[in-house]
Amino acid sequence: MMSERITVDDLLLAHAAGRLPEPVGLVVATHLALAPAQRRVFREYEALGGALLEDLPPAELGEGALERLLDQLDDSIELAEPPPDGELPAPLRAYVKGSLADLPWRHFGGVSEARLPLDDSTYRTSLIRLKAGRAVPRHTHGGQELTVVLDGAFHDGIGAYTVGDIAIADPHVDHQPQALGDEDCLCLAVTDAPLRLTGRFSRFLNPFLRF
Ligand code: ZN
Repeated sequence: MMSERITVDDLLLAHAAGRLPEPVGLVVATHLALAPAQRRVFREYEALGGALLEDLPPAELGEGALERLLDQLDDSIELAEPPPDGELPAPLRAYVKGSLADLPWRHFGGVSEARLPLDDSTYRTSLIRLKAGRAVPRHTHGGQELTVVLDGAFHDGIGAYTVGDIAIADPHVDHQPQALGDEDCLCLAVTDAPLRLTGRFSRFLNPFLRF
């Protein structure tokens, strides 16, 4: 389980080193496909990783570490091009065969969730669709929650997020994401621990939020 508070920069740096588990890497690759300005930042981190490696005396690297780092930095990660309007970004298309409508959606009020078929059982990887103006029940988090906006926008009382933005939440964050404006909001969300509802009726609803 991820335990420290993380930032988008942390994620970019770890992705540049090829160190992210598949679901988290998918969030970052999707972010990079949708947020062109971040691609340059990411390339700088890749270059920085190489420079840091050159500055390190070999003695400070554990056995085999140098080799592993070189493997990781050898070839820079291929970035997906921004998708045409209305299409999913390329990193996600690998997991969504056919159309979005064919996914196994579960509906809860104005909120729908479709789990994506990733092998990593540590993480829950889902597409979440909020109907215009609708909100996820108020909750906090047992671990980390990474959400990247694919279409539309949402706000959660802490920030507002639009296409390509990553929202990062953790056990210190208690929020209620709500679709902004008059559009539905589609997101990719990855969590490494169950959510815990904190709003009205949460005592009754929490037992239904098991993985
Ligand atoms: Zn949350």
